[in-house]
Amino acid sequence: MEGKVRVRFAPSPTGPLHVGGARTALFNYLYAKHAGGVFVLRFEDTDTERNESVFEESITDGLKWLGLNWDEDHYQSKRADVYRRYLEKLTSQGLTYEQDGGVYFKLPAEPRVVVVDDIIRGKVEFNSKNFDDIVLMKKTGTPTFNFANVVDDIDMSITHVIRGEDHLSNTPKHILLYEAFAAPIPRFAHLPLLLNLDRSKMSKRTGDTAVDDYRRAGYLPEAMLNFLAQLGWSDPDGQDFLPLDELVKKFSLERVQKAGAVFDLQRLNHLNQHYLMRKSLDEYIELAKPFIAHLSGDELMGRFALALIQDRAQTLSEIPGLIEYFFKTPDYEANLLVFKKSSPEQTGKGLNATLTVLEALEDTDWNQVKLQQILDETLSAEGLQPGDMFWPVRVALSGEEGSPSPVELLEALGKTESISRIKTAINKLV
Ligand code: GLU
Repeated sequence: MEGKVRVRFAPSPTGPLHVGGARTALFNYLYAKHAGGVFVLRFEDTDTERNESVFEESITDGLKWLGLNWDEDHYQSKRADVYRRYLEKLTSQGLTYEQDGGVYFKLPAEPRVVVVDDIIRGKVEFNSKNFDDIVLMKKTGTPTFNFANVVDDIDMSITHVIRGEDHLSNTPKHILLYEAFAAPIPRFAHLPLLLNLDRSKMSKRTGDTAVDDYRRAGYLPEAMLNFLAQLGWSDPDGQDFLPLDELVKKFSLERVQKAGAVFDLQRLNHLNQHYLMRKSLDEYIELAKPFIAHLSGDELMGRFALALIQDRAQTLSEIPGLIEYFFKTPDYEANLLVFKKSSPEQTGKGLNATLTVLEALEDTDWNQVKLQQILDETLSAEGLQPGDMFWPVRVALSGEEGSPSPVELLEALGKTESISRIKTAINKLV
């Protein structure tokens, strides 16, 4: 019988959690949970010069935000005795030598072909004659990445190593170490590189940004998860929007592509807008709060405003820009009031007629249905075109060329504020 699946996400905490790392964590998580296995988080933190606990926190916070809960965690910095024990196994077989204070693993005297059998890439061959002897311990007494990584994968009974393609060239060396330990070799799956839109390799410099930057920019974890899942994997049924438990059900490494995965921010925006649109208004308001804390105004009006723009914002951080005019008097040029098929005279007529009927409207009738009705009546009574009235009223209320409809704005802003903005517009025209 096959043993239980055990996979690990093994970040070196030398920087915050980046999207590439998050994608690796996600694919490990999905593979483990799909198989009813164990997802291990292992901090490869032996490089004490470059590790920082803030980065460990960034990694754990990012994983929690995405809902990728791990079953075990380990820190290489606390496992020095394990590496010593394993080193002894190699030394006692005469497979190591010391030089300049470091400990090295001797490669086979006769060059040989090492085959990496990769679930995603198939068989990849390497010749050991192209490698240098493998450093196991540095002269500082700390194990190297290659050594600690293999020892831990053996010691933690890791069955599948799922990691970025950048590690493929290390894998044949790792296989030689597994063989030296007479340990079972895990299955390998090297995930495709992340590419920029122009298909250049993505790196921390060219845009591979920290997951936390996306959270702060107002992306939702569910959108991020779907986006990350599609960086190399695709749903067999072509679905874009899948909650985490559905991803678990549908994920397989067989559907991961070899070719580089293009990081398309437009896609992420699209996914995010989809999830934002589907929030209840109360949830949406809660999500928006931290992003609009600097806008002060009537709470009910804020609620109206958010309801009106809920399907327009792609990220939460766009919200203040979209609703700002509800909270402060808009600033615009007088000629924006005049629709291209209208004239200043007709526009003035439209605004004045609107002002008159709005002033006469009872507070209790101040709702979209009634407002639409009286504006329509006024339009035909005055013999005006929609562009002579609805256009300037919308601009008067929002200062924008594109915004919700005039009656939606009137309802949200309320009688006093609406009337004051229409008067301002009339004054601008003369
Ligand atoms: N610490 C390595 C890294 O962050 C892990 C490589 C692996 O998953 O084996 O790239």
